[in-house]
Amino acid sequence: MKYVYRLDALKGWFLAIFPILSLVLCMLFPVVVEEHFVWDLRWIPFLIGSLYGGYRLGFLLIAITLIIRYLTGGENGFYISCITFPLIGISSFFISKYYLKMSLLKKNIVSILLIFIFQVLTQFISTQVFGINIGISLWKQYFIIQVVGIVVVIILWEVILTNFQILEKIVKAEKLEIVSHLAASISHEVRNPLTVTRGYIQMLQEDVSSQTKVKYASIALQELDRATEVINDYLTFAATTPENNEHLRVSKEIQDAVNIIKPLANMKGIDLKLSLLEDDAYYIIGDSKKFQQSLFNVFKNGIESMPVNGELYIHLFLHSTTLQIKIQDKGVGMTKEQISRLGEPYFTTKEKGTGLGMMVTYSTIKNMNGTISVSSVKGKGTCFCITLPIHRNEIDT
Ligand code: ADP
Ligand code: MG
Repeated sequence: MKYVYRLDALKGWFLAIFPILSLVLCMLFPVVVEEHFVWDLRWIPFLIGSLYGGYRLGFLLIAITLIIRYLTGGENGFYISCITFPLIGISSFFISKYYLKMSLLKKNIVSILLIFIFQVLTQFISTQVFGINIGISLWKQYFIIQVVGIVVVIILWEVILTNFQILEKIVKAEKLEIVSHLAASISHEVRNPLTVTRGYIQMLQEDVSSQTKVKYASIALQELDRATEVINDYLTFAATTPENNEHLRVSKEIQDAVNIIKPLANMKGIDLKLSLLEDDAYYIIGDSKKFQQSLFNVFKNGIESMPVNGELYIHLFLHSTTLQIKIQDKGVGMTKEQISRLGEPYFTTKEKGTGLGMMVTYSTIKNMNGTISVSSVKGKGTCFCITLPIHRNEIDT
């Protein structure tokens, strides 16, 4: 199913290659009947190509036909082709725009008409101008075969195109379903703790011992924290604002994300060791909020992986076309299996984890055409390496 995601590119190629290939094959391996008359079905791919493909493919097909026609010899035939192919070709890619919107029946009628016109034209030129005479019964046979051929090809072609359209629709529907599914489950994830909190606060109103009150209050607080956590990990990801594609300065974005996480680090007595590059010569493209959120989620995991008084290293490296952000902790580390599940929604090993942080990070970085690689040793620590493509600023002089 993977190729479905490249459907557009594929469709362009698909549309072009088949007519070209069949045209060339038709012309190279014709059924020769007479000295002056080359029997082949070249008009079918030629018409299909220029009607469905528009002017670019149309011109290409005209050029190919004439070149091959020239190379295969027969002067008169070549001159006739020089008139008929450009004439019919150019008129068919003018028709092309309307043709694509026609019903199947109309498409067939138009193509048959075109075949008829070209045939009358060829016949006229060859008898009047070059004095070549080909029996009328041969013309009839030729016409009938071409008509049958083009009708069959048009029907097949339409079936294939419809198939592509259906596939496209399925892919779109699938994507939408994932999004709506996620939105539903996240709101569920937030609503649950809120409901529990509400329940306990309600019970606080009743006359209970102060000991019970403390217990209820702490449960209510815990649940509120849980809801906050889900929102924190997911916040900008779920934001419905359209994606901004700004030019971002990486150092600044990292610095901002670090500032947001700092209180959490201080609370656990963890040192953030930063080494950034100050450089105006390049930028990355993405949404500032989402990018900061994804860094924040990685930083937070690093901090959470360590007991008190650890160190979290954040380094920025610059290469010719990419940059790397390495986030290294000396925490609990992960097993291979855990690494492979990173980014999966709701995958968490923490008691109060949401398993949403990495999902958000992976999806944002992927949208920015970046990659994430993780190396980790259980018990020793983890290194997240985010690689992003960079764009260079024009150097002002
Ligand atoms: P959460 O932090 O809520 O559990 P995440 O999606 O942020 O959800 O992380 C998923 C899981 O990945 C974590 O529960 C943890 O097991 C693992 N993980 C992520 N980063 C690290 C890290 N720096 N060190 C150890 N484990 C990590
Ligand atoms: Mg996390």
